[in-house]
Amino acid sequence: MSTNEQKESLDFVRTIVANDLESKKHNGKVRTRFPPEPNGYLHIGHAKSIVLNFGIAAENQDGKCNLRFDDTNPVKEDVEYTDSIKEDVRWLGYDWEDRQFFASDYFEKLYQFAEELIRQGKAYVCDLSAEETRKTRGTMTEPGQNSPYRDRGVEENLDLFQRMRAGEFADGARVLRAKIDMAAANISLRDPTIYRIRKVDHHRTGDSWCIYPMYDFAHCLSDSIEGITHSICTLEFQNNRPLYDWFLAQLPVESHPQQIEFARLNLSYTMLSKRKLMQLVEEKVVSGWDDPRMPTLSGLRRRGYTPEAIRNFCERIGVAKRDSLVDVALLEHSIRDDLNWKVPRVMGVLRPLKVVIDNYPEDQVEHFEAPNLPDDPQKMGSRQVPFSRELYIERTDFMEDPPKKFFRLGPGREVRLRWAYLITCERVVKDPESGEVIELGCRYDPATKGGNAPDGRRVKGTIHWVSAAHALAAEVRLYDRLFLTEKPGVGKDADWHADLNPDSLQVLADCQLEASLDQAQPGQKYQFERQGYFALDPVASSPTRKVFNRTVALRDSWAKIAKKAKK
Ligand code: ATP
Ligand code: MG
Repeated sequence: MSTNEQKESLDFVRTIVANDLESKKHNGKVRTRFPPEPNGYLHIGHAKSIVLNFGIAAENQDGKCNLRFDDTNPVKEDVEYTDSIKEDVRWLGYDWEDRQFFASDYFEKLYQFAEELIRQGKAYVCDLSAEETRKTRGTMTEPGQNSPYRDRGVEENLDLFQRMRAGEFADGARVLRAKIDMAAANISLRDPTIYRIRKVDHHRTGDSWCIYPMYDFAHCLSDSIEGITHSICTLEFQNNRPLYDWFLAQLPVESHPQQIEFARLNLSYTMLSKRKLMQLVEEKVVSGWDDPRMPTLSGLRRRGYTPEAIRNFCERIGVAKRDSLVDVALLEHSIRDDLNWKVPRVMGVLRPLKVVIDNYPEDQVEHFEAPNLPDDPQKMGSRQVPFSRELYIERTDFMEDPPKKFFRLGPGREVRLRWAYLITCERVVKDPESGEVIELGCRYDPATKGGNAPDGRRVKGTIHWVSAAHALAAEVRLYDRLFLTEKPGVGKDADWHADLNPDSLQVLADCQLEASLDQAQPGQKYQFERQGYFALDPVASSPTRKVFNRTVALRDSWAKIAKKAKK
């Protein structure tokens, strides 16, 4: 491929990076960063940013990506979040090596930069209340009004700012503002606040500071201090870019990173806002940040998602400059796609119905060899599956009065037990009170060992089963979307509570699984044939009771859509 052809296949962010490298704009360097605010757990939207930032660094020689905690807001942050963020980034497969930074490490430098702005006459201490500041900011169509404190002299400003730092004034009494232009068309340039007084402890700097820098001031300077070349952020910061550039242009900085905005990930039937996810946790709608229904990386991991699937998903959706809504079915497709060739098939009965093989000897046990990956039997070897007189099959694999097209079990009907024998249903036992079917009596055909009839008779249905005496009793949790609407909580007066799916969690407490699952380790993944992909829950399982989460069902609506589109 020629350089031009290579460039054509790049997304717009990578194109900018490639052009900058070519023109030696940042001395031929690529430095990116992933800058989470440690005020919650990371979600799949953050993964998009991680994959982009770490990905671009990895694709370029000597490219590096920093992990920077944007911890300028002292009240909402916590070490619990810092730790979980590191765990999640590592789990996704990225390494920041020794480049873990905190914006709070730069507080002194940032303070010095603020004093520098004051000395240049480009920042002033303003005594207006928050309410007055808001009122005098103007609107999209009207300019703002100058603060009466705008023309304070440099000495007075320095003195007041130093006393703000020393703790002489109450929260909200004064702020430091940049002196730019109250008539600027871009509202973010109308003398924005750059420091405010907050007499609260910070989780890293303790009580050393009672003034804290605002995001716009701290972020561009932190980028510059770290020598970031491309500061990639989401679209809502587009209007702040002139301010980002203004601070860097006024101050004696060594490097001027370029801010590039891309569209954030929006996923259908999913909320991606840490604030709202926090509400789900605090209101106990879910069991925690790692509830398998959460779109958090910890939730997805617990549910059985792999880092590869998430990275592939992020690469598949790509980056663009326009907001869009990604179908959650694409995420589900990514995990199926990844697990398909990776995990063994096993048999697990989720809603057991007892079957007695009336003509099978009472104490006999046979073992059938079952390939772990039937589509490629060499790849994963096989296991021995025990068979005996009493079995469990799936309740939904029997119908007392089946329609013609039902190829599973019914009175007098014959079906294939996967890897074992053909059986015919001869007896239906019901609970005398409820009338519910509680047991089936069947006859097996000893000549059909392995599941094939020597006389060539056709048996369409094949069902899974487990031997009752050998089965592992376990709990299985099935998940559905947490929300019933495509854009939960979005729109005028919208409240996500109204969009919740009451049936998002289904607990099946009496499942009977193939004996080999007794060996499952936390997080280990399987396909339960005909039921989906499952992973052993590392949190809910105990040494005596295993709990499996269904990661995803087998039916792939996305693959179907993609197939149709191709036709
Ligand atoms: P939230 O809106 O969930 O509170 P945030 O943007 O406030 O997220 P940060 O911790 O500030 O969360 O985000 C860290 C990085 O992840 C930022 O660069 C941000 O742009 C990016 N990011 C956050 N949400 C998404 C998303 N949905 N899609 C892509 N990138 C995202
Ligand atoms: Mg944020």
